[in-house]
Amino acid sequence: MTTLLPTSIVGSLPKPSWLAQPETLWSPWKLEGDALVEGKQDALRIAVQEQRQRGIDIISDGEQTRQHFVTTFIEHLDGVDFDRRETVRIRNRYDASVPTVVGEVSRQKPVFVDDAKYLRQQTDQPIKWALPGPMTMIDTLADRHYRSREKLAWEFATILNQEARELEAAGVDIIQFDEPSFNVFFDEVQDWGVAALERAAEGLRAETVVHICYGYGIKANTDWKATLGSEWRQYEESFPLLQRSAIDVISLESQHSHVPMDLLELIRGKKVMLGAIDVANETVETPEQVAETLRKALTFVDADKLIPSTNCGMAPLPRDVARGKLGALSAGAAIVREELSAAKD
Ligand SMILES: [Zn+2]
Repeated sequence: MTTLLPTSIVGSLPKPSWLAQPETLWSPWKLEGDALVEGKQDALRIAVQEQRQRGIDIISDGEQTRQHFVTTFIEHLDGVDFDRRETVRIRNRYDASVPTVVGEVSRQKPVFVDDAKYLRQQTDQPIKWALPGPMTMIDTLADRHYRSREKLAWEFATILNQEARELEAAGVDIIQFDEPSFNVFFDEVQDWGVAALERAAEGLRAETVVHICYGYGIKANTDWKATLGSEWRQYEESFPLLQRSAIDVISLESQHSHVPMDLLELIRGKKVMLGAIDVANETVETPEQVAETLRKALTFVDADKLIPSTNCGMAPLPRDVARGKLGALSAGAAIVREELSAAKD
């Protein structure tokens, strides 16, 4: 891509109210059968149009065809029983009733490839597709078969790699793995988390991203964030490992978060997808606020390696707020782009 500071969203956008209950995670579909298939495609086209109209350069599907960024992928795999549920603690933060791994996990057919082909038809701009990362997948399951988090993660990594290769063949330019768990399970990140992630990304020609964040703006996450103190240094654990990894781009949150910007020094040389939009707050940023965050990042990231983005997915936000934030993101990036080209002249 030739655009300097190409803008992108992390993943989800709010769904239209005729498709699913707004401002809710795991919201059930309001349609079924063929009407649901058509409704998802309509919503995906709207998501593309909204990003393009507001100047987003790298286009995502807005996760309009999935109920949840982790669960929907797992639902399509064998070996997981969704009727047998157990209550586990998600990322050491909140209890949830989760499905159980009862046998060998495998993928009988592609999960998102048709959706990705449909997204490819909608635009000539670069497209990005997000998949859950292996460590984040195992954290939303009870495992009664492998009885080893590492082993299960490795199996998922192999499955994710199959899916990623087919997404790439379908024309996806950038493949993103969501690993919020990397901000929680530091020993496992070190022992096998990054290795499993690299296994998921193995052999891809598409650019690869790992997205690590502090979660959606839901109460369980904001309560957890309140306990983290005035400086959030969690990235300090994963960044040195990722700097040495085969992953091309690191996606992190920054706007309104307490992450010290100088932690970016730890991933020097990598591309950085920087969260310049707060998704836990319904106030739309001004373009100048976005620009100020990007300017700070440019102290630690070369301009040709910076991708202005959102902190995380925007699924739980009202639609008009999400649209406003898309506009603020591209307007803020435009300000800094102009400053950079003026400085060069
Ligand atoms: Zn996130």
